[in-house]
Amino acid sequence: MSNAMQDYLTQVAQRLRLSVDAQSGILFGNQGGMNMLLTRGTSNQSYVSLVFSLTKGGQEPDGAELKSFVKGNKLVANCTVRRSRVEFILKARFGSLKDIDKLEQVTRETVSFLRSRGYQSCCQGCGQTVQTEACVMAGVPSLLCDSCYQQQDSMKEQARQEMERKPENVLAGIVGALLGSVLGAACIVLLEQMGYVAALSGIVLAICTLKGYELLSGRLSTRGIVIACVLMLVMTYVGDRLDWAITAAKYFEVSFTDAYRAIPYLIQEEAIEAGDYIGNLLQLYLFTLIGAVPTIVGSLKNRKLANVTYRMQGKPPADNTVEF
Ligand SMILES: [Zn+2]
Repeated sequence: MSNAMQDYLTQVAQRLRLSVDAQSGILFGNQGGMNMLLTRGTSNQSYVSLVFSLTKGGQEPDGAELKSFVKGNKLVANCTVRRSRVEFILKARFGSLKDIDKLEQVTRETVSFLRSRGYQSCCQGCGQTVQTEACVMAGVPSLLCDSCYQQQDSMKEQARQEMERKPENVLAGIVGALLGSVLGAACIVLLEQMGYVAALSGIVLAICTLKGYELLSGRLSTRGIVIACVLMLVMTYVGDRLDWAITAAKYFEVSFTDAYRAIPYLIQEEAIEAGDYIGNLLQLYLFTLIGAVPTIVGSLKNRKLANVTYRMQGKPPADNTVEF
């Protein structure tokens, strides 16, 4: 975490009287009897997201009522309700020191609205109005009571072990990756022949190959990533060469297979400029890389996150009373 971010979190924690979870940088605590999590928005990364787990007289929150609050408050951008979990997207930029005033104001307004309408904090798991703790459950910031925390933790652990025991279907994965990469290579040829920027299809090729493996093998393992990368290298080359072959076949009025085989010869004879050929190929590889890296990083991150479960801990603020 950068120093600026650390500074921001400390200041928000002080002003809103929340604690910072050192591991995730998520702010958590209680205002006016309402338990909350304050973090970077998931759908809108630049805004702050304020998360509650709420019940109203034993019922799940009333979406329409919450939406009307969102409409009436200029500092609230949106609100999503999933069972008891309610997430407000606040129009305060995450990380902005200048927006802390706004953040404090809108948080206070939201809490008093919820209190005035009879909402109470509850456990996200069982919906009971019992003591809850801020925690990270399989990578998801949550508000859970102790027994739900333990129950979900052991369930996730079981699911994880089962997943690890289940053999990965490598053969099916290879078929999937192959189908994906053929689709990508076809995309390269098609776009290039139509005169569009074919390099962009490198992104398509990378994503289709990786997703193809994941879809048919059941998961994207490290072995799967390696297999998919090898296929990407090969199929990008093949796709590009197919494209040149089609052009050459048309130009010299020879069969497509002859043209495909003749490509190195045509380069040697300077019928195809080597610089053009290599430049084009490198551009394709670059875009394949652009498609592959975020897909792989995202998948590794998800895999890692699925194993992250803990109770949030942080220094509580010096003065823990909030006036209402
Ligand atoms: Zn519970």
